[in-house]
Amino acid sequence: MSAAAASPPFRIVHTVCSHDCPDSCGVLVTVDGDGRAVKVAGDPKHPVTQGFLCGKVAKYLDRVYAPERILFPLRRKSGAQKGPRPCGREHEAFERVSWDEALDAIAARLKNIADEFGPESILPYSYAGTIGVLGYGSMDRRFFHRLGASQLDRTICSEAGGVAWNLVYGKKLGTPTEDFRLAKLILAWGANIHGNNVHLWPMVEQARRNGARLIVIDPYRTRTAALADWHIAIRPGTDGALALGLMHVILNEGLEDREYIAAMTYGFDRLAERARDYTPDRVAAWTGMTAAEIEQLAREYATTRPAALRLNYGVQRTENGGTAVRAIAMLPALTGAWKYRGGGGQLSTSGAFPWDKKAVERPDLALASPLGRLARVVNMSALGAALTELGQQPSPDSDAQPQSGPPVKALFVYNSNPGAVAPNHNAVKRGLARPDLFTVVHELFFTDTTDYADYILPATTFLEHTDVQGAYGHYFVQLSQQAIDPPGEARSNVWLFSQLAQRMGFDEPCFRDSAEDLIKAALAIGPDGHSTRPEMEHITLDGLKQQGHIPLAFHSDPEGHPFQPYLAGLLPTPSGKIEFYSETLAVQGLDPLPAFIPAVESRFGEGAKRYPLEFLGRKADNYMNSTFANLDGHRKMEARTSHRLEMHPVDAAARGIADGDLVRIWNDRGELCLTALVNASLPAGVVAGKLDWAKFSAGGANVNALTSERLTDLGAAATFYSTLVEVAKMQGTGIRD
Ligand code: SF4
Repeated sequence: MSAAAASPPFRIVHTVCSHDCPDSCGVLVTVDGDGRAVKVAGDPKHPVTQGFLCGKVAKYLDRVYAPERILFPLRRKSGAQKGPRPCGREHEAFERVSWDEALDAIAARLKNIADEFGPESILPYSYAGTIGVLGYGSMDRRFFHRLGASQLDRTICSEAGGVAWNLVYGKKLGTPTEDFRLAKLILAWGANIHGNNVHLWPMVEQARRNGARLIVIDPYRTRTAALADWHIAIRPGTDGALALGLMHVILNEGLEDREYIAAMTYGFDRLAERARDYTPDRVAAWTGMTAAEIEQLAREYATTRPAALRLNYGVQRTENGGTAVRAIAMLPALTGAWKYRGGGGQLSTSGAFPWDKKAVERPDLALASPLGRLARVVNMSALGAALTELGQQPSPDSDAQPQSGPPVKALFVYNSNPGAVAPNHNAVKRGLARPDLFTVVHELFFTDTTDYADYILPATTFLEHTDVQGAYGHYFVQLSQQAIDPPGEARSNVWLFSQLAQRMGFDEPCFRDSAEDLIKAALAIGPDGHSTRPEMEHITLDGLKQQGHIPLAFHSDPEGHPFQPYLAGLLPTPSGKIEFYSETLAVQGLDPLPAFIPAVESRFGEGAKRYPLEFLGRKADNYMNSTFANLDGHRKMEARTSHRLEMHPVDAAARGIADGDLVRIWNDRGELCLTALVNASLPAGVVAGKLDWAKFSAGGANVNALTSERLTDLGAAATFYSTLVEVAKMQGTGIRD
């Protein structure tokens, strides 16, 4: 709706985009006199948002007012089987019920399951469908702790990289996004800045106008890679080898910064010894680069100042991904890049926000549960195994590590769509289809997961609830104020779990906390109205209401000193220094130094004899994982590569495949059918399909039909990009352009 068709008076409300994106944009929502949102725009006063939104969220009102939105609680009809139905007819399996009926029935069923099988047989499943502090994890955590439900190890996206970065630096801080404009070299390692970190892109452009070079390391020719000065199409999962090879050259040629190393790091000599093994020739054989390219990259990186590394999370979604991130993270410490403003690196800035998580999530409530202790932990990256093997003998073919305890009898899904995004889709589907599994899903739309729900509860967008938010790509605390009433009977996570708690008979006063109470808890607001955390002591709730965003204390130095992380002082690592060598890993019997061990499921493993192609299940630039994939406008923006398998001409020719042919892609876990798109967007030996909802895909299978539940070397996270497949031409014709 245009503002012209709407009725005055208009008001503008400050909200924050809560989608899983580093930029955490300040979003100004114009609301008309009828209480309807008529416009969304980026906050021009926010130093990172700079007044614009990405293409996904610029069209956000299409999502808020989508006719397909679920607006009322729904219950599966008696006799309606679980499983997918044709798109647009999902509602036929459900009937509308009131919130009271739904909440009473869900509470009664959870009580029965907890009594019969123990509360750990109830599994919450959520991730970053919203990254506001309250929406991501607050009243829900209190509820499940008090219930004694299994805890979810939220590993699916960033855990391997986060653990790795913290092993080196103790805390996730990075070069401020605003300072990338000062760099003379920007190394985007697995980072598609132009596609999904768009507010860094203007800084990159400004740096380039001032003479900076942009180098992209990525197996896929992303939008960013296509715009780079040098695109290095490394083989998937070999990033750790390259980082060690760069160290070898840097040390061999004396390009390291000895002064910085002496002042700020621990274990240099042992790292230097290790790096000696990684000669350019050896690393070239793994990565597909030439030895000369490795030497050139090392020299350019080590001698250009400031050099800024933008490392993103794709790198760590491989079997050896944790170690790869650990090795890459050491590079700016080796060259002293942190010393130069605009240099250094960024994986995430999330470690800067000192939220009082204990007050928000209240893990102490577990002591009041029937368990009297914290419950077992179930890894979300092995959901298929959790639903099909927990409490039973594990299948001999399972990739997942065994977990113990009762079977999962109830699954409560919110902020996520595991029917699309979880690895090993077929195992997940088998689990979700179990008739004895009681499944509740809090959602906005009919998804691959709601197809299996017993109850669907209508959820809110970030325009419809209040929250507070940090970021993993900047240093501003922001308040997201509720701009509009939720349509229909949609309700927030906070409301839902507060109501359920009361129906379960949980009488602790914390279950009656309002959103504002929770925000104060998150900010650790003291009696004087200010946060008690040094980084936020200048922040008050009123201040946030007035200003929308407030920088953390260290990012707003009144004397004008810009923030530069890891420049001096003690770090929160065991040695107090940047750790090239980790005693923590040594104590655990793990290699304390980075090393390159090729993934079992890669071209270097035995499995490549049967499945010779490495498969990348890529994220779409215009979706947010699975979010937005059901909206026509977003699907149109992705049309070129939708339902396509991108493959190198050499691999296509070897299989008699031409552009536009229908192809079957398979391995032992599953198969899917796509149309070949033959191009050189990937190195030979690598193919790529795009993550989509299974229900929009031929045969009801998406890319996760091929991925495994094997976990990463650090952080026990998902290994989406360690996947081998074979491809063959099928009869019939695919999509022709
Ligand atoms: S998805 Fe990212 S870039 Fe887009 S509006 Fe949200 S925070 Fe900003």
